[in-house]
Amino acid sequence: MQYDFTAEQIAWRDEVRAFLKDNATEALIMETLEIGNEGKGPESTKFMAALQKKGWWSLAWPKEFGGMDRDPMDTWIFVDELEKAGVPMMPLTVTSVAPTIMRIGTEEQKAYWIPKIAKGDIDFALGYSEAEAGTDLAAATSKAELKDGKWIVNGQKMWTTMAHMGTHVWTIVRTEPDEPKHKGLSMIIVPLDAPGVTVTPIMVWPGLRTNAVFFDNVEVPEAYQMGQRGMGFYYAAMALNFERLSLGSIAMAHRSFKLVVEVVKEATFDGQALKDDPWIRERVGRIQMEIDAARLMTLETAWALQGGGMPIAESSMSKIYASELTQNITDLCTQILGMSGQLHFSDKSTLGQGWMQWLYRLAPMFAFGGGTNEVQRDIIGFMGLGLPKPSSKKLVKPGTKS
Ligand SMILES: Cc1cc2nc3c(=O)[nH]c(=O)nc-3n(C[C@H](O)[C@H](O)[C@H](O)COP(=O)(O)OP(=O)(O)OC[C@H]3O[C@@H](n4cnc5c(N)ncnc54)[C@H](O)[C@@H]3O)c2cc1C
Repeated sequence: MQYDFTAEQIAWRDEVRAFLKDNATEALIMETLEIGNEGKGPESTKFMAALQKKGWWSLAWPKEFGGMDRDPMDTWIFVDELEKAGVPMMPLTVTSVAPTIMRIGTEEQKAYWIPKIAKGDIDFALGYSEAEAGTDLAAATSKAELKDGKWIVNGQKMWTTMAHMGTHVWTIVRTEPDEPKHKGLSMIIVPLDAPGVTVTPIMVWPGLRTNAVFFDNVEVPEAYQMGQRGMGFYYAAMALNFERLSLGSIAMAHRSFKLVVEVVKEATFDGQALKDDPWIRERVGRIQMEIDAARLMTLETAWALQGGGMPIAESSMSKIYASELTQNITDLCTQILGMSGQLHFSDKSTLGQGWMQWLYRLAPMFAFGGGTNEVQRDIIGFMGLGLPKPSSKKLVKPGTKS
């Protein structure tokens, strides 16, 4: 493994930094905090347009789809710099759904959807989960029937986060009811403005909105079913793999941690300088060590991808480590900052610019986004350690019949 960037990679990093120096404005950073990375406020829209103009919106896509074919290390550098700057991330439409369409779509489907995504005209909500189908995605019961060249979609999706802002939902529904549950689902795109679609809000802890989405006899063109019928579960897994690759980053937590270290250097509590407190010194030292370890894990994943590998267990390890570390960092730092660190970022008397209280509320999401950490540990077991695949049988209490 090479532990330093090449001259080209350093030049690329500097180019991204120069762009961010001009474009990562204070107004954009504050808006990102306020709307929680949904990327739809005026400042974020302007920023995304600037990324598109540079061609960086789709930088990792192959050239044949209008991308820049940037390799995994360049992509890692790009995402790292964006996160460190505190600006919104690329939407999952670009980083997860589009690469899946490129692999599973027919030529007509690719020609129809990819240019629209590239222009930012299409924004997908991800409609995998249902009330009774989260980790066990294959248990989804929303369904679609093909009638007179149209899919008629019925059912309910849960936690469909961008559905109130997006244009379409990328969803799995049961189309082959007689097949085993993993082989009975298909991937279908449903326009969110189609008659029969109802989106209702669910507000969650970090101040974010997610949604329940209801389909009531929604008619969808036959061509909106992507790839092969019955393969929806596997296509969702493919899209989730792309999603997970971006989840091991520790840059956002690192940025907030550095702000807290600045507070530690300056602040006093009851007349005692925080920087002299042995409890704080020991813990911030430990966190810095863990941040470096997390960063090396994501670099190792990018490096393996660069060499043509498929580091599935490694990306699970990195995602677990970074998400749990983010929770530990926010837990420790809110203790260090005390009550004033819990103030809203609009309050000028907050310490650490108000990032920590926001990240504290956001952090639990990283532990289940892209597949829960418990499931990731299972993946490490069977992909990394050669253990048998986990049994789908339910646990039965000793002394009872299954
Ligand atoms: C704020 C928010 C936003 C979300 N956004 C989206 C979105 O945009 N699109 C979307 O489709 N979904 C979204 N989700 C859903 C999210 O992906 C699910 O919550 C997650 O997959 C877990 O599913 P569940 O909530 O049904 O929990 P369950 O699957 O019931 O799991 C409960 C607990 O049991 C554990 N568990 C379950 N099965 C196993 C097993 N076999 N082995 C070990 N442990 C297991 C889980 O790890 C978890 O800790 C969102 C959820 C939230 C809260």
